[in-house]
Amino acid sequence: MNFKDIITDCYNQIKDIENEGHLAAYIPELANIDPEKFGVHITTMDQQGFGMGNALEKFSIQSIAKVLSLVLAYKLLGKKIWERVDVEPSGNAFNSLLQLEVENGIPRNPFINAGALVISDILVSELKHPKQDFLEFVKRISNNPNINYCSKIAESEKKVGYRNIALCNFIKSLGNINNEPDEVLDFYFNLCSLEMNCKELSELFLFLSNNGCCTYSKEEILTERQSKRINALMQTCGFYDESGEFAFEVGLPGKSGVGGGIVAVHPDQYTIAVWSPKLNKNGNSFKGMAFLEAFTTQTKLSIF
Ligand code: GLN
Repeated sequence: MNFKDIITDCYNQIKDIENEGHLAAYIPELANIDPEKFGVHITTMDQQGFGMGNALEKFSIQSIAKVLSLVLAYKLLGKKIWERVDVEPSGNAFNSLLQLEVENGIPRNPFINAGALVISDILVSELKHPKQDFLEFVKRISNNPNINYCSKIAESEKKVGYRNIALCNFIKSLGNINNEPDEVLDFYFNLCSLEMNCKELSELFLFLSNNGCCTYSKEEILTERQSKRINALMQTCGFYDESGEFAFEVGLPGKSGVGGGIVAVHPDQYTIAVWSPKLNKNGNSFKGMAFLEAFTTQTKLSIF
């Protein structure tokens, strides 16, 4: 498969389409990002890489990091984590409080904010130095020492994070947060502030194309069964109330973030990351989705 030609073609096709999206200005620092940035990078199972546009420029990966915190919690505690968070699509916005009260503080899935806060609570309980230990884990599984939190973004979100603060306190009142909300929120805001570029993201997520096994160190990051389940969750819940639309248009397990990034995984084939900061009304990258739709159509490589 000549990924290079197809990516070049799709990139040029999508580059100049009218972008109906908007920046995620509810996080003040994200409102300062150049809205015209557009990058893409693929990493294949045989370690080939190809990128275009702003593929080497770091951005805030935001909710994409929720996959990484889930992976670590799953690795540490196994299936016990499903007692604290469910595995069903929510059909609601990523920051919704709606379902929590009727569902006894058990969030619908680990990728909506409520679920990611519960997973953060688990990591705060399990790790000795939660922020450092989590970052070390990400660096190790990506074989990349140049990954870091962005304190400016974490602080910026914390200052206006009323919704997440409310969510965390609400879940605590329902008995599903064990630590102090401040500590859990500090971990969560830092988690969301992780910065990577498209190349780094596509390399890091390659273990999910490889049944949970790191392609270069051969470390088993997750078992095959666990890896299958993370991909299933990305497929059904990775795009919030637009997860059905993403499956319909693109047809790959994936995860988006309000920084405008999307990472998508084709088991046994490749991982691809795309970044364009303007978001559609559901908080997913407008051009990112359009690019991936063109890409899986032209390569005929979706999972369907
Ligand atoms: N930090 C963001 C928030 O909690 C993450 C949301 C996202 O990327 N969808 O609002």
